[in-house]
Parts: sequence; C-alpha cells; structure tokens
Amino acid sequence: MADEKKMLSSRLTLIARHLSRSPAALISTRKCQFSVNQNQKLTVNHRGNMYRTEERGAPNTLEHRIFFRNEFGPISPFHDIPLFANHEQKVFNMVVEVPRWTNAKMEICKEEPLNPIKQDVKKGKLRFVANCFPHHGYIWNYGALPQTWENPNFVDERTGCKGDNDPIDVCEIGHRVAKRGDVIQVKVLGTIALIDEGETDWKVIAIDVNDPLASQLNNIEDIEKHMPGFMNATVEWFRIYKIPDGKPPNEFAFLGDAKPREFALEVIEETHEHWKKMVAGQVDCHGVNSTCVSAEGAPCKVSISEAQEIVKKCPELSDGPIIENEVDKWHYTHLLK
Ligand SMILES: [Mg+2]
Repeated sequence: MADEKKMLSSRLTLIARHLSRSPAALISTRKCQFSVNQNQKLTVNHRGNMYRTEERGAPNTLEHRIFFRNEFGPISPFHDIPLFANHEQKVFNMVVEVPRWTNAKMEICKEEPLNPIKQDVKKGKLRFVANCFPHHGYIWNYGALPQTWENPNFVDERTGCKGDNDPIDVCEIGHRVAKRGDVIQVKVLGTIALIDEGETDWKVIAIDVNDPLASQLNNIEDIEKHMPGFMNATVEWFRIYKIPDGKPPNEFAFLGDAKPREFALEVIEETHEHWKKMVAGQVDCHGVNSTCVSAEGAPCKVSISEAQEIVKKCPELSDGPIIENEVDKWHYTHLLK
C-alpha cells in the first residue's frame, strides 16, 4: 500500500512537471514588454515565451537531458538562441541552468549535439555543489548567455588568463526563483572575474527585466543601495564554494571588485565575437559541438527532422531515483580574514 502511494505521488510529480513546461503555462507567465526606467519602455524582438524544454531520460540519473525547442522543433540553447533579445537596448537572453536555492550542477552540455542541459558528473557521480553556511545552493538564478564563448585559445588582457571554454556565466539577482531551462531577458549591471584554476571565468551580474527592482538597478553600485550585502555575499560564495570539495579558495581578478555595466557589455560583445568564429569553424573549438539549426555562418546546421532524431536517441522521460539527503548538508566554511 505504501509503495502504491509512493508510485502515485511520483507519477503526479511527473505530470505536474510536464504541465508546468507546457507552452500554455509559459505563455501565461511571460510578458514581452517591460519598463527599464520610468521614461523608457523596452521591448524584445521576439516573444519571450517562444522557447520550451523537453526532458528526456530519468531525472537524477546520468541519462537525464533537458533539450530546448522553439515553435518549429528542437534547437541548441548555446547556438540557436540569440544573445540579444533587443540589440539596440542591450537586453540579453539568459538560459537558466541552476535555479536559485538549488545545488544540482546543471549546465549546457557543450560536447553533445544540440547542447541539452545535463548534470555535471564528477568521478562517475552526479555533481552537487556544497552548501556553504548560511547558503543553500546558488544564491541567484545561475545560467549562461547564449552565443558567447570564453575562448581558451585567447589570453584576456584584462585578467591575463585564457578563457574557460564555456559560454559566459550569469548570476540573475531578481526576486523570482526561475525554472531550470527558462529563457529570461536580463539587464546587465556589471561583472566579476573569477580566476578558476588559471582560467578566466566571467560572472556577469544581471537582473530579469520584468523584476520589480529592474527599473531602479542600472549599474553595479545600485545593487548595494537596494540589496545591501548582496555583492559581498556573491563574491564570498564564489570564493568558498569549492573548499568543502578539498579545493583552495577561488581567486578573483581585480581583487574581487565588481566592474560596471559598460565593462561587462564590452566583455559580452567580445565573447560573442569569439563564439561567431568558433561556430563558423574558424578557430580550434576545443571539443564544443556546434550542431544547431539556425546559427548564422555555422557549417554544422541540421534540419528540423534531423534535430528531432537527435532528441529521440535519448530515452523518454521516466521516473528517477530520489536524491539522498546528503546533498543538503551544510558546510561550515570560513575564510581567515
Ligand atoms: Mg564559466
């Protein structure tokens, strides 16, 4: 009897998850127009709700994948979602990989065709980021800017280090807890530069343009005014988050100081140019799979039906195991002042 109840409850969870991903559910929660400050109305060049996800395999297993689709079929979130939601007004699309307060290390898989989101694997096991007291999981919605690439062939003169071979990372600091696989439109406020094992790893700080605070946050210093302590917490989070895994504290360029919006915009535009060369096959791509359906200049484009075949090769969505409580453990990690 207990087993039947458990099965029924996990079925209901699956159905609820499926419904929450349906286009109708997405349409009801998104707007296309938003205000950035009192005088300016911004619009995006496409409907913000045009993307949805398709889960394959069983959650909490190595086979689990989250593919992206537009109204025509499967796409790559890395290469087919445009960087700019509005180029002129510098509104960016952001792909949410890790919703706030969760700690499963989900990321766009660079190596697989169509780059679905999957959970990072360490020593054969699914990777969860350690919770460093007082935090549980990530303290922002964390994700990537599509069509950007931190080029590992190139030394960034600002940091003196090569790129980390990933799309650029974003911390979205708005009040809403996003869903994994959401594509949200963000305003960039600044950036910090983590140096991860000798590689440049920009962390762009941004806010959802639909957030009630978005019109008041226009640059990096506005964050301290409206969200006191948040940037310090952010830098500390990145410094200590790998310590429980036996790694040293992370280093930052610029002593951990955050750089302003204009600086961040420059970094983003530059990584966008690096991505263009990579997707066009003009530079060593370091294992990035650039299979996509629409990116301009990409030689690895596939048709909609070929894209559908790629998705179908992964097993259908099914029940997965329950995650062990161990991943919720709090680690008391302190840095010497
Ligand atoms: Mg990165």
